[in-house]
Amino acid sequence: AMDVSVRNIRKEFDRYPALNDVSLDIRSGELIALLGPSGSGKTTLLRLIAGLEQPTLGSIFFGEEDASHKSVQERHVGFVFQHYALFRHMTVADNIAFGLTVRTRSERPPKAEIRRRVEELLDMVHLSGLGKRYPNQLSGGQRQRVALARAMAIEPRVLLLDEPFGALDAKVRKELRRWLREFHDRTGHTTVFVTHDQEEALELADRVVVMSQGKIEQVGSSDDVYDRPNSPFVFSFIGDSASLPVTVEEGGIRFEGKETGIAPGAGDIAAGEGTLFFRPQDVALVTDPAAPALEGRVATSRRLAGTRIADIDVGTPERPHHVEIEVPLDANAAGGASIRFRPTRWKLFGA
Ligand code: ADP
Ligand code: MG
Repeated sequence: AMDVSVRNIRKEFDRYPALNDVSLDIRSGELIALLGPSGSGKTTLLRLIAGLEQPTLGSIFFGEEDASHKSVQERHVGFVFQHYALFRHMTVADNIAFGLTVRTRSERPPKAEIRRRVEELLDMVHLSGLGKRYPNQLSGGQRQRVALARAMAIEPRVLLLDEPFGALDAKVRKELRRWLREFHDRTGHTTVFVTHDQEEALELADRVVVMSQGKIEQVGSSDDVYDRPNSPFVFSFIGDSASLPVTVEEGGIRFEGKETGIAPGAGDIAAGEGTLFFRPQDVALVTDPAAPALEGRVATSRRLAGTRIADIDVGTPERPHHVEIEVPLDANAAGGASIRFRPTRWKLFGA
């Protein structure tokens, strides 16, 4: 496996920066996910690593080697795209062998060797015995596994996957997600996986790279980006969240001029205007009427399996402000009910 170092990359399209000073060290053998909303630059970064695009500024290293000006073939990468069109007129086996058969005669393995390799790859993607079929005789999930086998056939140094399961239905996606993780653990390829689906990224990846507007917001484990988001963007992009504009003063946090009953913690801003973020499940109802708390009225609520999510208007008549919180099933969450609560875990960001 190969490590890849992306160094201060800027990529402009018609002077518009799709990527702006992006640096990232991808470790040898890791499965890393590029996660971000549509248009954040994920595909552009993947294409730059592949050599399908040239950076405006910056460089890309494969191990010790500056690969910035190497061709796609010289970089020796394998890819799978969302709509990776397999060759319809070729069998599954011929599709998988394609990257080997198009090599120049001196580099091409002998026919028997190619056949053996194709069988091995079919086995690896759990499609043994289907080599003689044509792509239209396979399910969507099977086709993407053929695409992966095709990418693996050239023994790539790095595997690049751009929303490879994006066109499949939810159930198949989940199955393939688990399968890919297991496949990765067996084969140990350095793998860069692009997705806009946070659940997919958190479940699958060793590390998650959160991107927004052509920049990397945070790089970390699933726990890091979910439990310790380092920006308002990451907090609200990953998982459910609520936010409130607050003022921090004298060790207390105020919302609309009133004490919330929580104090800034270590690492929070010390004083001034800020935004308080918390997750719906990280709140406790406050029953003592004398204790400071966030106060509001239930606008709507909906029942989930073991709990209820209530939409609370914590604002004022002039300035309504809604947050969603989880409330116990036995709490009064009827529309109009007044409710007092306090976040048990939160993060404060400066305004
Ligand atoms: P993502 O994969 O995260 O959805 P992309 O990398 O495809 O994002 O795109 C990032 C930004 O760059 C978008 O604003 C997109 O419109 C722009 N962009 C991407 N490729 C091109 C291109 N070939 N020409 C012009 N603009 C492009
Ligand atoms: Mg994309």
